[in-house]
Amino acid sequence: MTAATPTAASLPAQTGGQAQEIDELFGAAGDYSREWSVHDRALGTTDLRTIATRLPRQMWACLKISWRASRRGTLILAACELFGAVFSVFGLLAVNGVLRALLAGGATPERIRSAIPAVILAGTAAGANRVAKAVSLGTQTWLEPAVQALAQDELFALTNEVELLAYEDGEFRTLVDTAQYGASWVSNAVDRLVDLTGGILSLVAVGGVLAVLHPILLVLLPLIVLPSGYAALKRSQHMYRSRLKTLTLARQQRQLSWLLTSADAAEEIRVHDAGSFVLQHYRRLTQRMDIEKRRLGRTQMRSNIAAGAATGTATASAYLLLGLLLAHGTIALAAVGTAAYALRTGTSHLSALVSYMNQLYELGLYVSDWERACVEARKLAIPHHGAPVTAAPQRIEAVDVAFTYSGSDTPALSGVNVTITAGQTIALVGHNGSGKTTLARILAGLYLPTGGHVAWDGIATTDINRRGMFSHVGLLSQGFYCWPFTATANIRIGRHGSGDPDAVSAAIRDAGADFVHDLPFGGDTLLCRDYTNGVKPSGGQWQTIALARSGYFRDGDVVILDEPTAALDPAAEIAAYEKVGTLLADKTVLFITHRLASVRTADYIYVLDHGRVVEQGSFEQLMAADAGFAELFRLQKAQFELGEQVA
Ligand code: ADP
Repeated sequence: MTAATPTAASLPAQTGGQAQEIDELFGAAGDYSREWSVHDRALGTTDLRTIATRLPRQMWACLKISWRASRRGTLILAACELFGAVFSVFGLLAVNGVLRALLAGGATPERIRSAIPAVILAGTAAGANRVAKAVSLGTQTWLEPAVQALAQDELFALTNEVELLAYEDGEFRTLVDTAQYGASWVSNAVDRLVDLTGGILSLVAVGGVLAVLHPILLVLLPLIVLPSGYAALKRSQHMYRSRLKTLTLARQQRQLSWLLTSADAAEEIRVHDAGSFVLQHYRRLTQRMDIEKRRLGRTQMRSNIAAGAATGTATASAYLLLGLLLAHGTIALAAVGTAAYALRTGTSHLSALVSYMNQLYELGLYVSDWERACVEARKLAIPHHGAPVTAAPQRIEAVDVAFTYSGSDTPALSGVNVTITAGQTIALVGHNGSGKTTLARILAGLYLPTGGHVAWDGIATTDINRRGMFSHVGLLSQGFYCWPFTATANIRIGRHGSGDPDAVSAAIRDAGADFVHDLPFGGDTLLCRDYTNGVKPSGGQWQTIALARSGYFRDGDVVILDEPTAALDPAAEIAAYEKVGTLLADKTVLFITHRLASVRTADYIYVLDHGRVVEQGSFEQLMAADAGFAELFRLQKAQFELGEQVA
């Protein structure tokens, strides 16, 4: 089989009157979010004034995080930059002294002798400057990684705490993604902040010396530097816009590269000959990025050439002016020499400064993504306050519960009333999309209802400390997560605080996950093949591990089983639920299924349809009512029996 050739040009589709690209693999996956990044995009039209007005805030943000990472390190850096500027002033004054001594009248040996103190001062200033620079660099070496670690840690800690619903929002996910750039570049921003501070201080020093020599010399400095400064601004604008353009492509490429190398996809890749197909798409993305990089290169080159020409003209004019001043006797020869030296130093400082400003501004935008993600994550965080949950609930009640997903017009649930008492096994049944998972998540406190209320032992989930609730909830869903950790860690993941080895062994035994004992390192065997000594359990073995994970929860805890057995055939599902029944005998169980044969053992059954409870009662009561449930049960039973006969 040959892989299909990917469509290099994506198909345009009309959405809301706008042509949108439909990618063969990623469909209409949106571009980099516009709403979250609206002010960042302004970089495309930013001028120097905007940068100058915004920069102080960005500098402040970098300074704050550097201060938080290490006060000592930040103070050392500030002191080094300050001393560096003071030594620059001494250096320039010393150069002036040397020139004045050498250009004065008298015999040459005499002039050289009188220049010696100034030469010593110049040497000492240069040496001290180097020492300050060395200390600064040494400090930056450890401070910057510390700043980065702090930013990343904060982002991960905060995003971990947000409401589950936030992850349903593609824009929030994109913000978190871009914020990771910000978190990893915050150290570069601090680096630029140090350079910028040093540059500003040195420039003030050079400007002061020039002003003392002749005030007009101060005007020459920006004249030489403005063209290259403007070009540097344009450069960073182009780069930033280009990065935004390729951000989504880079994300998609990362996903494909993972598929091409991961052990999980290796089997499908081979069986379906999908490797070449995925690889072609990977190359297509590389090509699209390459086109963008080439375009960027051409744009950069054009603005650099224009800036180079303008800088050359401005420099020649500045030196011409110096010559005229000397010819008219406005300033002395020694002062011209010092001015030429200072202008050279000053222009290099100023052009570096403009470039640092741009870089810091650009990095600052990413850092502001990080800051905004942290702010948003704090806003979306599951609150820490609320009535404490000291024990597993005795009674969970949903009263007239309604829920509508943001961006959806149709309510996923409306007018739902459910009561669960401790130790009961409750089944939620209904067609796909009838609202079972949503209801289970609301009962567990993962979502808050948009109408009505859910109460745990009489306290509404809005008033309760939901983090406390989660410690009494175990979840085993159809897409249960196969953590790339050891078998024991996989079982303990929901309760990593308690390290009781006997409880782990009991959970393994009860869930029938005994294969763990035969693994090369027993429970300490890594269940993923991305590292050496890792193994890959079969689907069924993973199922037992997941079961053991739910069995590891405390007595009385609420365990939600969201169609974990959907991949099994009906007979195997019934058997699995019988095992689960024993395993979770002392827990409150809420299980979700669309296969009605599995619900015979449930104490009470709620039948959902289009977000409403349409029938409820024990299995016998529902069968006796002879309504939709009974009809569907008979239909499924007949299908099952027919399947048995065919088999
Ligand atoms: P079930 O578990 O019974 O299959 P769900 O609770 O998953 O049903 O979904 C109930 C309804 O809510 C469905 O119409 C589904 O399309 C919708 N829904 C589920 N998740 C989301 C979401 N993240 N955003 C918008 N609608 C959703």
